Amino acid sequence: MTEGCIFCRIIAGEIPGDFVFQDSEIVAFRDAHPVATTHILIVPRKHVGSVQELEEEDVGLVGRMVLRARRLAEQEGIGERGYRLVVNCGVEGGQVVPHLHLHLIGGRKLRDSLG
Ligand code: AMP
Repeated sequence: MTEGCIFCRIIAGEIPGDFVFQDSEIVAFRDAHPVATTHILIVPRKHVGSVQELEEEDVGLVGRMVLRARRLAEQEGIGERGYRLVVNCGVEGGQVVPHLHLHLIGGRKLRDSLG
């Protein structure tokens, strides 16, 4: 657990999270400020600050985060309709919480453009 990290605190149960999935490696909980009907954050239990801090040994973890996002999309009933997976990285990438996370966003037609 990294001191002062809000996602580490959610994972530790110190502050509440609306969890939709948990295993020994990954948790997923609903975003507190959803931008669409489905807005879930897929988060590794291990504190990794951002994509910039990923190591070779994390390749499997990242793959499992993406596959988990797909399964959650199916659970949410949006697997066939489509959805967006987003990873913000760093200040200019719009990352606010410095603990790696994948946004699963869907349930409405999203804008075609990014940025
Ligand atoms: P990012 O800008 O990629 O770092 O996204 C951080 C996301 O975390 C934002 O969409 C926030 O709404 C969300 N968030 C911040 N605090 C919480 C919280 N306590 N519970 C759930 N989601 C949160």
